[in-house]
Amino acid sequence: MARIVKKFGGTSVGDVERIKNVAKIIEADVALGHQVAVVVSARSGVTNELIARAQSINENPNEREMDMLLAVGEQETIALTAMALHALGVPAVSMTGAMAGIKTDPFHTRARIVSMNCDKIESRLAEGSVVIVAGFQGANDDGQVTTLGRGGSDLSAIALASGLKADVCQIYTDVDGVYTADPRIVPLARKIPEISYEEMLELASLGTKVMQARSVEFSNKFNVVFEVRSSFDTSKPGTIVKQEVSSMEDVVVRGVALDRNQAKIMITNIPDEPGTAARIFGSLGEANAIVDMIVQNIGRHGVANMTFTVPREDTKRAVAAVESVLNSIGGGEVAVVGDIVKLSVVGVGMRSHSGVASKLFGALAEAKANIQIISTSEIKISVVIDEKGCEDAMRIVHTAFGLDKEEG
Ligand code: ADP
Ligand code: ASP
Ligand code: MG
Repeated sequence: MARIVKKFGGTSVGDVERIKNVAKIIEADVALGHQVAVVVSARSGVTNELIARAQSINENPNEREMDMLLAVGEQETIALTAMALHALGVPAVSMTGAMAGIKTDPFHTRARIVSMNCDKIESRLAEGSVVIVAGFQGANDDGQVTTLGRGGSDLSAIALASGLKADVCQIYTDVDGVYTADPRIVPLARKIPEISYEEMLELASLGTKVMQARSVEFSNKFNVVFEVRSSFDTSKPGTIVKQEVSSMEDVVVRGVALDRNQAKIMITNIPDEPGTAARIFGSLGEANAIVDMIVQNIGRHGVANMTFTVPREDTKRAVAAVESVLNSIGGGEVAVVGDIVKLSVVGVGMRSHSGVASKLFGALAEAKANIQIISTSEIKISVVIDEKGCEDAMRIVHTAFGLDKEEG
């Protein structure tokens, strides 16, 4: 008998038929005598709809109330999944994040898990029930509902697998694994049979939506090996994500990521003197705007220009934060410029290979993509380019690094 944690994402529980399909997948494990704990997301689109509804009532909804609202999506699917199992004669019980013992810090809409108390789940599993836990949610010390950031059901599943010391953790989604690039954009992308936490974390942080970045961070910290696989075709093997994979260094670029959720902010004519950047970025930090890539040109005639990127949802806050500094220093203009994306190539093999930047820039030239900002680390190179044409650029970059699968 094994102990298995299975997570089903939004599309996998997207409608009644799919929920019934999920119940059958679970039933097959129960029939083999396994203990099964399940995490489900809200039906796909529900969380977005709830956010839109909140914003149509109040442009800046209170974050506590937002969590109260967003937690509803997952509460629907846990109950329906339990009912679908009951219909198959499988004992099952649903639990909210709080009931499942997921304790978080107090930061609404982006809470971090601080501890797991799996006692309630353990006793239900011991009784022979499948336990269905609502993903994406927990409760703080005060018992208030919190949510774990978008895509947070992945984190719920990894945390549960760690807390329950599960033998297997399976992340079921609408693709059959992690690919060298989003297969919806790059049809020639290849499935990666095994990938290290380090590369998966980098890809996820750079916009690869298949796993939430924080969930990969957690799995790395607590060494939770997991598999990303398809809920539509369960016969296909998925991608195993773990600490070490064979021949890590031989592959220079493991994958290409695209982040469409960045905005570029440009500040012009600011005084070219010590302390200006400190004031601007101090103010951005206070406003909770997450600054990513930064470039500053060489100052001329006593003034300088600076450009940086932030997640799109932080744009308004970032502009207001910069304006307040510009007002106090009596000069400069700030503007949000253009629809941009961040395209990145990732691979730990870059540490020991040269020529990655020149190959990337060559491919971007071929794609006629103008590079606006560049940033590098030892295992990635990212560029900011125009959103227009970015998918073509991604395909050309993918080909240039030899990642395409054989056609046919
Ligand atoms: P879920 O609702 O199951 O959590 P998500 O929509 O969050 O699923 O993630 C799955 C999606 O991630 C896929 O439909 C795919 O389009 C996208 N994706 C982006 N990059 C990749 C990649 N490199 N490999 C696989 N899927 C990717
Ligand atoms: N329902 C949440 C979201 O859409 C969490 C998740 O699906 O993982 O972000
Ligand atoms: Mg997801």
